[in-house]
Amino acid sequence: MNTPYKINKPKGLDEWVIDHFAKSYILVDKKKGTAICQKCGEDYNYIANELKHNQELECDGWCYSTAIVKEKRYGRKNLASAFRLLWFTRKNDIAYAQYDEIRVDYTGDKIALEYTALAQYRYGKKETIAYVLNKYWSYNSMVPTFDRCNPKLPHQNSMNYWSLPEFTYTDNLEELQKTTMKYADLIECEEITNLYEPKLVIEYLEKHRKYASVEKLRKAGFEDIVTWNIQWHTGHTINWRGKNLPKILKLSNMQEVRWFKNNANTFPELEAIHCLKKSKLKINEANVKLVKEVGIEHFIKITTIDNPTKIYNYISKENNMFVSEYIDYYDALIKLGVPITKNTLYPKNFEEAHDRATEGVEILISKEKSKEFKQTENKIITKTYEKELIIRAAAEPEELIKESKELSHCVRTYIDRVARGVSAIAFVRETSNPDKSFFTVEISPKRELLQIRGNHNCIPTPEVTAAVDQWIASMA
Ligand SMILES: [Zn+2]
Repeated sequence: MNTPYKINKPKGLDEWVIDHFAKSYILVDKKKGTAICQKCGEDYNYIANELKHNQELECDGWCYSTAIVKEKRYGRKNLASAFRLLWFTRKNDIAYAQYDEIRVDYTGDKIALEYTALAQYRYGKKETIAYVLNKYWSYNSMVPTFDRCNPKLPHQNSMNYWSLPEFTYTDNLEELQKTTMKYADLIECEEITNLYEPKLVIEYLEKHRKYASVEKLRKAGFEDIVTWNIQWHTGHTINWRGKNLPKILKLSNMQEVRWFKNNANTFPELEAIHCLKKSKLKINEANVKLVKEVGIEHFIKITTIDNPTKIYNYISKENNMFVSEYIDYYDALIKLGVPITKNTLYPKNFEEAHDRATEGVEILISKEKSKEFKQTENKIITKTYEKELIIRAAAEPEELIKESKELSHCVRTYIDRVARGVSAIAFVRETSNPDKSFFTVEISPKRELLQIRGNHNCIPTPEVTAAVDQWIASMA
């Protein structure tokens, strides 16, 4: 197939491909008494007759890999592996890249490589020209064509119905230094991040060609800011069109840039600084670290409570405690009108204090809804059942909180539903033990049974269900 650009594979590419990606097979011919590693040429003639088809053997030739024995008398028709590779070359000072699908064929005595070009890229001074193999071949000729497009990779399924592993050939990257792409230092780049995914390499080069800011950032020691952005596609944190470092990094001045470089210097921290600036909060190491850790909303909230670092240190000491729980706790204290002191802000046992405060708030809210709650209960639940079991309406919202606690289910969250008249709640008790929670019932305003729940949301016994049915029928 004709490719748009006539460019040659880098020298040594075949050897590199075989070295890195070819599997090792030891071909055995028992008639001739030969056994040779197809990948590295090591011979095992001396044990040819002992080797068995499909046996594994550690090849100790240069390939040094686990080789699989294949007897020549068996066909090796379908023995092949495939992957995709992006490689670079240059003509004078112009860099070219080609993206190939490579099939490694083991059917012959020697490994054969078959390259199919899927895309080509020309990195000119002013623009990148890309040609990608058209996924939809022409109906008449069934010949694939290369279409000009923005620099991107072809769709994974353009040739196959399955995805293939992708790699970048990195042994001749220094050639790019002699081209117009000389500032896109892919060699240095790899040291900071795993950029050799072909898709990322193409994107990285394109950013470089388009924006002088990339080079400015790299020269100033912000390589990982660039690569992080390409890897994670993180929005508008960087102004690629910026003319100088403060503009590019969206910082106020060089002093701030220097501070960032010396104190933080990673992408999430840059985002944290932007958040602090937007909220007109102080930029220092502790605050940046905190914003990164807890998010700007929570950070702003805790700055209104006390010194954020002090709070953060306290939270860090308590295992499994989240900032959000601390904020809940603080909000509960305020609602309850508890005086804010050192002891209430930093209780010795946070979990206990937290549970007490949030329950206090629940009770407070339930009291506010008491009137509506009672109205609904009285309207829907008109009768009390009294036989071997007792079934009665919940008298107060607070009873739901108590019931929840004793049966470890969530009826406490139904106070609002009842107050709004959506449903009513009744308690099933054993006559012998009328104060002890047993089962909880929810019924609709039309007295349809919605649910019966016991300890840890367990389902009712047949006796309980029968009693509830009788009770509902008695109210008809
Ligand atoms: Zn070998």
